Amino acid sequence: MSANPVRLQAITDVEAYVPPAPSFSPGETPGDIFGMNVFSKTVMQKRLPKSVYKSVIATIENSEMLDPMVADSVASAMKDWAIEKGATHYAHVFYPLTGFTAEKHDGFFDPVGDGTALAEFAGKTLVQGEPDASSFPNGGLRNTFEARGYTGWDVTSPAYILENPNGNTLCIPTVFISMTGEALDHKTPLLRAQQAMAVHAERVLTLFGHTPSAVVSYCGPEQEYFLIDRHFFVARPDLLNSGRTLFGAKPPKGQEFDDHYFGAIPERVLGFMADTERELFKLGIPAKTRHNEVAPGQFEIAPMFEAANVGADHQQLLMTTFKTVARKHGMECLFHEKPFEGVNGSGKHVNFSLGNATEGNLLLPGDTPHDNAQFLVFCAAVIRAVHQYGGLLRASVASASNDHRLGANEAPPAIISIFLGDQLAGVFEQLAKGPATSSKGRGTLQIGVDTLPVLPTDPGDRNRTSPFAFTGNRFEFRAPGSLQSVAGPMTTINAIMAEALDHIATKLETAIELGTEFNEAVQALLTELITDHGSVVFNGNGYSDEWQVEAAERGLPNLRTTLDALPELITDASVQLFERYGIFTESEAHSRYEIGLEHYTQSIMVEALSTLEIGQTSVLPAGVRYQTELATNVTALKTAGIDADMDLLEEVTAIIADLRAGIGALRIAIEASHSAEDALAEATHAQSALLPAMATVRAAADRLESTVADDLWPLPTYQEMLYIL
Ligand code: ADP
Ligand code: MG
Repeated sequence: MSANPVRLQAITDVEAYVPPAPSFSPGETPGDIFGMNVFSKTVMQKRLPKSVYKSVIATIENSEMLDPMVADSVASAMKDWAIEKGATHYAHVFYPLTGFTAEKHDGFFDPVGDGTALAEFAGKTLVQGEPDASSFPNGGLRNTFEARGYTGWDVTSPAYILENPNGNTLCIPTVFISMTGEALDHKTPLLRAQQAMAVHAERVLTLFGHTPSAVVSYCGPEQEYFLIDRHFFVARPDLLNSGRTLFGAKPPKGQEFDDHYFGAIPERVLGFMADTERELFKLGIPAKTRHNEVAPGQFEIAPMFEAANVGADHQQLLMTTFKTVARKHGMECLFHEKPFEGVNGSGKHVNFSLGNATEGNLLLPGDTPHDNAQFLVFCAAVIRAVHQYGGLLRASVASASNDHRLGANEAPPAIISIFLGDQLAGVFEQLAKGPATSSKGRGTLQIGVDTLPVLPTDPGDRNRTSPFAFTGNRFEFRAPGSLQSVAGPMTTINAIMAEALDHIATKLETAIELGTEFNEAVQALLTELITDHGSVVFNGNGYSDEWQVEAAERGLPNLRTTLDALPELITDASVQLFERYGIFTESEAHSRYEIGLEHYTQSIMVEALSTLEIGQTSVLPAGVRYQTELATNVTALKTAGIDADMDLLEEVTAIIADLRAGIGALRIAIEASHSAEDALAEATHAQSALLPAMATVRAAADRLESTVADDLWPLPTYQEMLYIL
């Protein structure tokens, strides 16, 4: 146990901690509260006139334009419902490119002159808001004199009540755009990409003889996070400022025993989980799976998958809820991708599939050869999409914080490949040999003619090293970071699927027009797709060094860092893709690139400044105090006529010299940032000068931590943060 007064107090407080009273009332079942704070379809059906309800549903399910007359009627019902639920305010909630959720609150009640106030909420207030956009990142899209931004109601994502002991708020999910209609958020491009994907998926379904019905993409995010006691959190300025520890020697016990993964959930954490899940249920968020993760103090929650747009909004709400509830339980929830060096970081695996109520899941292998042919076509679309735009997928998960995780033998490498599992890979290998026109029986497959082998619904062998893995009825994109919105990766997945499905539909339509029989056309197309794009399929160990070499031979990009990946957003191929499917204009794509660079630089700059401050004002003084203590001891020994051993004093003195040199170099590197000419130069400087300078300071500081007397060490240690909960 620590003898340092600050740390000792923190530990004492943690031990004395009393958890809050349970929030579940006895006898309450999750079903009683699920969705109670959501303006759901059921609520709308009860409260809206039939014609209005029908019109809203048509907008939600078939992307039909919202009738303005309908908006007034919905707004009025929504207001009454919200006020009954104790709401005093309403807020347009939007998702600016800060990566966080933004909300602008307005009161429902307006004074009416006679000393009373009347609740007002018109359709136009529901549909459109006008927050000042000048403080949000726009990557050069707007000049400051055109500061106006608009929020617009996203009818497809349900409104909800956010509870607060001092009054509730009606929250309305919205898009956030500039005056001239450019996207300033994460939601707008996702909606655009989803729509583009649906158009071409429906063309393919039509070819397979289905009556088209709107296809949606589904998203099931698995969120990893750390919990630490808040007494430690507030004593770590690095965590407060940058979300990760910038100092900290390795604890004697790390994760080497694998004893945390799927272990019994600590009681305090279980109390927190039950409380968060209750809050999520009220908001209609289907929290489902929870367990310990690999690192000590690390956990995971996976809600049930939902339509991507709703799933993305819910994911943001989940993170906010986790932060709030963790505080209520005296803990801090860390979403950073790498809060602790030397132990596993956190990701957010994005499970993706597409389909709808009529067609079911289009990535589910079927029972009949016909169904399986359709499944293989959608699967081949994924293969083409990921092969052609692997760089873009990599860019969709690029951030300074995720760079610490990708490729570090705990998360997939930066090379984007697909894992199919042996059985499905075998099917595609056979298809690559081409249709068995004259050699039936030699083992090649014929679509719709031969019975395909029963395809695996559970491929059995999971491959944790693959960034894009087929898991039986969906693909799991394992590279997204724990901190990021899933809207970015889901936008990219939908965009590249739109292209692949467009390509496929056009090929098949042309072949049929030219008189080719449908099954034959499908067969030929699958052969062509797997021949052209099969090199992205890799079932081996993605963590191995050999894969780095082999991937290069296959021509797959290996974009190790954010700065390698971001330019993918503005290549000709990417811009063409975005423009063709109406996802980004060229200037919007460039703005995302600029914002990516700015965000990267800012994150690293905050870390550099924190390293400087903590190094100079906390770590160095601890070293100097210990040095003084040792020097005093040496003098005392000499005075007493005893041979003084100078080794320890010399060792500490040498570390202090290294630390001071490191701090000096970091200060110079920080100052040099200001002379960078543009955003790219600044980001490059952050990568090549600031990061290494910070690492040098840390190396000396961590050595000092393992050397100085424990009572002098000011920062809560890894041991304390990871194990005392
Ligand atoms: P894992 O074994 O990969 O850790 P989890 O149970 O933690 O799996 O999470 C799986 C996630 O995948 C959940 O969010 C789940 O809802 C989601 N999922 C399941 N089926 C689909 C599907 N068809 N499309 C998208 N997501 C899905
Ligand atoms: Mg999981």
